[in-house]
Amino acid sequence: MSTDVITRLKQMAVDPGRVWIQDGTSYAALLDETGRLAHTLLSLGLGKGDRLLMQVEKSETVLSLYLACLRTGVIFLPVNPGYTVTETEHFLSDAEPALAVTDPDRVTGLSALGARVLDLPALIALSADQPAAFVDPVHAPDDLAAILYTSGTTGRSKGVMLTRENLASNAEALVGLWRFTEADVLLHALPVFHTHGLFVATNCVLYSGASMIFQRTFQPASVLAALPRATVMMGVPTFYTRLLSDPGLTREATAHMRLFISGSAPLSPATHAAWRERTGHAILERYGMTETNMIASNPYDGARRAGTVGMPLPGVEVRITGPDGAVLPQGEAGAIEVRGPNVFKGYWRLPEKTAEEFRDGWFVTGDVGAFDAEGYLSILGRAKDLVITGGLNVYPAEVEAALDDLPGVAASAVIGVPHPDFGEAVVACLVAAKGAALDEGSVRAALRDRLAAFKLPKRVLVLPDLPRNAMGKVQKAELRRVYAGLFAGT
Ligand code: AMP
Repeated sequence: MSTDVITRLKQMAVDPGRVWIQDGTSYAALLDETGRLAHTLLSLGLGKGDRLLMQVEKSETVLSLYLACLRTGVIFLPVNPGYTVTETEHFLSDAEPALAVTDPDRVTGLSALGARVLDLPALIALSADQPAAFVDPVHAPDDLAAILYTSGTTGRSKGVMLTRENLASNAEALVGLWRFTEADVLLHALPVFHTHGLFVATNCVLYSGASMIFQRTFQPASVLAALPRATVMMGVPTFYTRLLSDPGLTREATAHMRLFISGSAPLSPATHAAWRERTGHAILERYGMTETNMIASNPYDGARRAGTVGMPLPGVEVRITGPDGAVLPQGEAGAIEVRGPNVFKGYWRLPEKTAEEFRDGWFVTGDVGAFDAEGYLSILGRAKDLVITGGLNVYPAEVEAALDDLPGVAASAVIGVPHPDFGEAVVACLVAAKGAALDEGSVRAALRDRLAAFKLPKRVLVLPDLPRNAMGKVQKAELRRVYAGLFAGT
C-alpha cells in the first residue's frame, strides 16, 4: 500500500522552512490551512462521503481545499470554471453535492438550480476562526478521494470515482520515475480542475517535498520569465507549440531546467524535434487519462522517443487486445487495456456503464495503440476516431504525423467523414503556420510518397483554428459534426 497523501503532507510539514508555493505558502502553513478548512467543512455539516463541488478560477486555495477534503473524507469534485451555469447543472443533479463553492459571480446562478452555495471568500472567512490543529480520522485506501467528470465530447460526461490509493500509488510511481526531489521547483501553469494539474503536478511536488511556481493561466511570457527559477514544467502540447512561436524561447532561457513533460494530448514528433533543436531538451511524453491516472511514460534516462508514450509505469500493466478480446502479439494495433492500483473505482452511479468498460478486471481505455519491439507504446487515436475507409483502417495519428512534418503546417487533425462509396473518407483539417500558405493540391501531392493511397486524405481543409477543449485536446467530434455533409451528393 502507498503512503496516503495526507500522511505525506504531514511528513513534509515537519520542516518549518519547506516551501510549498514560492513567494507564498510553506508546507507547515499549508497543513494549518487545511486543518482550518477541514474544521470549516465539518462545521457546515459535511462529512465522509459527501461531495463538495468546487467551481472557481485557479488559485492556491483550490489545492488547500482539495487537501482539506482528503482530511475529512469529503469527496472533492472540481469543475471547469469555464462551464456555464447550464452546463454545470448536470454535475449538480448527478453528484448531488452537499455544498458548492464558487466565485462570487456564480452564486446566484448555482443557487437558482437548488444547490447549497457558498462563495470562496466567504468560506475562507469562516475558516479564519477555526483551529489549525485537526485530528485526522482513519481513512481506508479504497475510500473515495475525488470525483472528476470526464471531458467526454459525446454523451453526458461521467463522474470518475478516484480512491486515495489511486492518487497515492500514482504519485509514488511518478516521483520515482521522473526523479523528483525536494530541490525541484515545478512551474505550474495548468488548470487545477483536471487530473494533470490537480493530481499529477501537485502530488509529484507534495510527495517529494518540492515547491511550485504557481501561475494562474498559461502565458508564454510569464512562463519564459519563470523558467530560470524552475527545474520542471508539465504542460499540454499547446504549451510547447505556443512557447515555440515565442522568440524568447532559447537554450539560455531553459538552461536551468531539468525536465519538460508533456501529456493529455498527442505531442507531434515535429514539435518534439523543434523543441530539442531550440532548447537542447528532449520533451518527455507520458500518457494517462482521468479514469486511470498516469499509465505510461517515456524513460528519464534512455531514449525519449517522439510519437510514443514510453513504457507502462511501475506497478501498472498494459495490454493490447483485438476485437474479440484476445491479447495481440507485439507490434499489432488494438485496444489499450490497463490494470493496476491507478485504475479508478467506477463511474459515479453508473454500475452498468462501469461493467461495460472493464474486461476481466482490465479497464478498456477506448484508445488504440501498439507496442514496438523495445516496449514503447504508441497511441494511434481514440477507437471512436479510427477511420474505416473502403473497409481499411486508418489511424489518424499516422496521417497527422505525416501532415505535421510538412513545411507550413502548424497543426492537424484527421477525421472520418461519411462517404457514399467508401463508407468513411479520410479528411485532414489543417492550420497553417504564421505566414505560410497551404493549398489542398500540394498537401495531397506531398503526402503521396509517404502514405499508402487509402490513407491519403480525400479532402484537405485549411482552417483558421482547430476546436480544442481546456486541455488543448482537439474536439474531433465537433469537426465530424461540422463536416458530416462534405461528401453528400458526390
Ligand atoms: P482525459 O481523461 O481528459 O485526461 O483524457 C484522456 C485521453 O487523452 C486519453 O484516453 C488519450 O486519448 C488522450 N491522451 C492523453 N495523453 C496522451 C498522449 N500523450 N498522447 C496521445 N493521447 C493522449
